[in-house]
Amino acid sequence: MTSFCRGFRKNFVLKKVPTAFQSFYLLLGVFLSWEIFFVSGVEARTKENIRVLVLQEVNQLKVTGQEIALKDLQTGRTFFKNIKVSSVIIEREIGSGLRIHGHSISAQTFLLTSARGPLTINGRRYRGKLKVFPGPNKDLWAINELPLEDYLAGLINCEISSQWPIEAVKAQAVAARTYAVFQKRNRQDKQYDVESSVADQVYAGIGPEDDRSRKAVKETEGELLLYQGHPIFSVYHACCGGKTELPEYLWAGFFPYLKSVDCAYCLDSPYFLWNYQAHPETLGKTLLSLGFTGSRVLEIQVAERSDSRRVLRLFIKDDKHRLDVPGKEFRRLLGYDLLRSTNFWVKEDDRGFFFSGLGWGHGVGLCQWGAKGMAEAGADYRSILKHFYQNIEIGKFPR
Ligand SMILES: [Zn+2]
Repeated sequence: MTSFCRGFRKNFVLKKVPTAFQSFYLLLGVFLSWEIFFVSGVEARTKENIRVLVLQEVNQLKVTGQEIALKDLQTGRTFFKNIKVSSVIIEREIGSGLRIHGHSISAQTFLLTSARGPLTINGRRYRGKLKVFPGPNKDLWAINELPLEDYLAGLINCEISSQWPIEAVKAQAVAARTYAVFQKRNRQDKQYDVESSVADQVYAGIGPEDDRSRKAVKETEGELLLYQGHPIFSVYHACCGGKTELPEYLWAGFFPYLKSVDCAYCLDSPYFLWNYQAHPETLGKTLLSLGFTGSRVLEIQVAERSDSRRVLRLFIKDDKHRLDVPGKEFRRLLGYDLLRSTNFWVKEDDRGFFFSGLGWGHGVGLCQWGAKGMAEAGADYRSILKHFYQNIEIGKFPR
């Protein structure tokens, strides 16, 4: 993942207030232009789109672009008729309302488009359209709808480096495309298809795109991983540490193409081996939600491992309890970036508990560093994908 993607992971709140000039044009747009300037939302039918949740937990959005059109999706009306608007500020009001440039409006859900070029939202550039509406936590949500292939070109450098061997980059492109299509088919009743965080796939707009990410997407255009003719749940992770994991320990469902396979190609990963030191009192506070008192943890014992040696269950003791804790829950509470995988060993020393482990991520599906190693050893993207996803075909899916 590039620093660009990390740096912009957390959304920020704009503190800038609208100028009198901007407010004037907004008022013109709101009160004088109710005769509709219809913004064509018709995309070329040959292009498949994806809806990406790009912002939430913000209370103000600044959107800039060239000749921005703002359409109320409830009434179909469009603001800014015959006015060349280049900047819009949308804020969440107390209650369920919205303000535009400081003025309360009745509309709740907007579609923003730019006549030419991308939209910039709170400093990040995005292709396609933007849907904005009030979120459930007194916040604003923004969903970016754009062509799937453009989404992939932006995504690559948030997941791996496009400077890796091109066959590894192409493998990432096909895995990410398939994951997006799989989720899109499963989330048709939701407002969006994928989130832009590690909950799905990290995406930060156009910024991280480059020639090599576009090349990998173009050279695999439309290709998907298929099992019995259907797109698969093509999960992936940074580094498996030598062997991938079965999916049943993490997700409910039937995924016969996700097997535990050996991977001798991720040894060069900086995440192949890791350590983490945790103080007993810090650990006690971290585990409060499990029912501990918050006092120091006295003992940690691995109770069960999977065939790939990942921890499935732990026994953890403080001065009052001895709890049976799932390994994946333990990792979630300690932090995915600290306890990098559940493939760990723990011992107690004079400073607390010392964890040493292998790999980074849940360990299921494609190992990104393994894909890099395979490509460096001469494998093409098809061989890489067929190693980490078993009994699959690579092809186009009729949509
Ligand atoms: Zn690996």
